Amino acid sequence: MKLGLDFDGVLFNSKLLKKKLDEKYDCFRDSYQEHKDNCLYNSIYDYRSQCEEMGVNSKEFLKTVRDISKNCLYDDIERLNDIDIEKIIITRGKRDFQRAKIEGSGIMEYVDDYRIVDGYYSKNFEDIDILIDDTLDELYGFNGRKIHFDREEADLDLLITTLESFNYVETKFH
Ligand SMILES: [Mg+2]
Repeated sequence: MKLGLDFDGVLFNSKLLKKKLDEKYDCFRDSYQEHKDNCLYNSIYDYRSQCEEMGVNSKEFLKTVRDISKNCLYDDIERLNDIDIEKIIITRGKRDFQRAKIEGSGIMEYVDDYRIVDGYYSKNFEDIDILIDDTLDELYGFNGRKIHFDREEADLDLLITTLESFNYVETKFH
């Protein structure tokens, strides 16, 4: 049994990262929004072209992202230890940008592995039994069991309760 976990918005508070980047780089927010808006539907945000526009060295930017990511995991992240299923992060985005966030955040202490994909509906791995994601589009393209996980309404406690109700998880009480 393998659990696929989305990263941004599920384990990692991307809004907090953006806020911190905004504090560091004057023009970040406006330029980020513009870049997102200009992305073709479902295409991927490219930090390099944004760096170019901001006049920021992209390697330095990536290092900053890695450093800042340290404090961007959600507060309840330790609860992942109570899920006794193999946990694989499945995240969609530019490889080096996603890797900087994942490795910088410290999440690898709590999960078994990560995979970075960049295609439409590309989270559909055959060996993943359940996918947890906050983006419906990603879930639609997945053929296994799926759980829509929205941080506005849910936390890892609720996710674990849900997994338990499907008999996927045996809770470890401390
Ligand atoms: Mg997400």
